[in-house]
Amino acid sequence: MLIRAENLRKSYTKKGRSGRTVSALRETDIELESGRLTVVFGRSGSGKTTLLNILSGLVRPTEGRVLFDGKDIFSLADGELSRFRSRNIGYIPQGQSALSVLTVEENVLLPASLIGDESAAEAERLLDIVGLTELRNAYPNELSGGELRRLAVARALINKPAVIFADEPTNDLDDENTRLVLDLLKRTAEGGKAVVVVTHEQSAAAYADVIYRMDGGVLTEGKGCNREIA
Ligand code: ADP
Ligand code: MG
Repeated sequence: MLIRAENLRKSYTKKGRSGRTVSALRETDIELESGRLTVVFGRSGSGKTTLLNILSGLVRPTEGRVLFDGKDIFSLADGELSRFRSRNIGYIPQGQSALSVLTVEENVLLPASLIGDESAAEAERLLDIVGLTELRNAYPNELSGGELRRLAVARALINKPAVIFADEPTNDLDDENTRLVLDLLKRTAEGGKAVVVVTHEQSAAAYADVIYRMDGGVLTEGKGCNREIA
């Protein structure tokens, strides 16, 4: 799978009396390829989540296009786009995102149940990879931060998507869990998926095949590896 985003721009009009317009993203071109881990560095408010939301089809850009193997995802009707997203895109959102009323295993299976393609064997395989087999019947409130993040990785992989987007996946994790999560994402890329990690954590640079830097909504390639950005 080859993903290309061309000339992406996104502006928001702030609610409230000021009605100020904010440019969250400007002049953004990016290319993502299967088998590569791309890391986008940028400080808080620089536009990283906005970029991921657009690349994954959740938010429509003000201008520009997102092409998956040449096909413009925003030209799809809403229902088609959500089916396309479910099958092709795994998303690891910022922060805690497990559903508290479901067990670990049920959380992993949730995206599969939404497309009517549940496989307990696949859930078990993924739980083993992320080291949560023994916790499969536990509930999210019984898990540590690192375990919750590994659960989010397994859930993002359940539908065998071609692309994984991870929004600050190591935020608030200790060194050991940071390493575990980045290792998992690296192996996922090596297994043939396009993986994108947005973060402000420098340690992610060691795992990257390609590095971008986001600054004030402007994305540039190949910088940030050895620079202080936080
Ligand atoms: P990051 O993920 O790097 O912290 P974001 O993409 O969340 O950055 O935000 C970039 C800018 O866009 C910020 O100035 C933020 O306030 C603004 N922004 C993001 N989402 C919205 C929204 N839904 N409405 C208005 N402004 C937004
Ligand atoms: Mg963000």
